[in-house]
Amino acid sequence: MKPQTASATIAEFKRRKMTFAKRGLLPMFMLILAGCVLLTLSLTNHNDLFAVLGNMLIFISGIVFVLTAKRYYRCPACDKVVVPTRDDGKPSEISFAIAYGPQTCPYCLVALK
Ligand SMILES: [Zn+2]
Repeated sequence: MKPQTASATIAEFKRRKMTFAKRGLLPMFMLILAGCVLLTLSLTNHNDLFAVLGNMLIFISGIVFVLTAKRYYRCPACDKVVVPTRDDGKPSEISFAIAYGPQTCPYCLVALK
């Protein structure tokens, strides 16, 4: 279901951004924090298993970021992931990059703010 008015599009993008923050960014930071705790423990206890687990959690945090960004961080009008804009105004082709707080969608140029 696509929002009909410009203000509805902006409100819907705001909602999607909140969902991404709650289901993507928050779990990602928790995983990084837990990974850092395990890495610290591995150093103080000389335990290799903690080091492996800590690295694994930090690796998984990246996967959580990419999957939730691709799922929730989309333009309400064209349903594409909102990526940064290049200098020439075209959407960036860098993998896994998102524009946090964009003024407009890089693909359909609808206002998001
Ligand atoms: Zn769009």
